[in-house]
Amino acid sequence: MTMPALVDIGANLTHESFRHDFDAVLERAREQGVTRMVVTGASREGSHDALALAEKHPGVLYATAGVHPHHAIDYDAATDADIRALAASGAVRAVGETGLDYHRNYSPRATQLAAFEKQIAIAIDLAMPVFLHQRDAHDDFLALLKNARDRLPNVVVHCFTDTREALFDYLDLDCHIGITGWICDERRGTHLREFVREIPADRLMLETDAPYLLPRNVEPKPSHRRNEPMYLAHICREVARDRGEDAVVTAGNSTATACAFFGLT
Ligand SMILES: [Zn+2]
Repeated sequence: MTMPALVDIGANLTHESFRHDFDAVLERAREQGVTRMVVTGASREGSHDALALAEKHPGVLYATAGVHPHHAIDYDAATDADIRALAASGAVRAVGETGLDYHRNYSPRATQLAAFEKQIAIAIDLAMPVFLHQRDAHDDFLALLKNARDRLPNVVVHCFTDTREALFDYLDLDCHIGITGWICDERRGTHLREFVREIPADRLMLETDAPYLLPRNVEPKPSHRRNEPMYLAHICREVARDRGEDAVVTAGNSTATACAFFGLT
């Protein structure tokens, strides 16, 4: 049985490290069966860039539009209007990346909460899915999400790295879960291997978060340490092993889930 095509639901392809060999990155992804990617918009400018990339590669690249909690300090009224306009473009398939990150606190917590709420409101108004980030902020994140959940269509907690309890808090709210190569990290990701099998197939999606989070056990190791979408095939095999299923099954289900979530045809 051949491997079904994969969808990388979180790739930061606007990152400067991809500028010099962008077409080769897409080609290598395609060779590994990663045929579609959702380019993460994580700032006002980055969301414009993500949409531009998606429009240049229709049917291959899609985008999100949002402001990452690190940049919440930049979230003013003009940004809000801009994200709202971008989100209405056809190639933009979710609002985000937004959420809370208390690990680094690059923006003050109150500012992060305000920007998160504003972006949730955009998603509710436009009836769009949201692409969410949470790190070391589960309680505040969950409280805000609970409050808005029944007005939101689909929700994905991307790059899930938290505990089993947090996972079930999100699944109980009918959220989707994005799993990255973090699961391959023998220093801090082994807990994920124990419960990734408990995520229902129609709630599990896969992502690289490229250029970040190169899977630590990928062979051969690229000299540059840059992660890229082609490594999604490796992540899929690792997740499949932990779920006790064939990688063909994991690939097929995660792709069907991603297509339904982002409205890919
Ligand atoms: Zn993130």
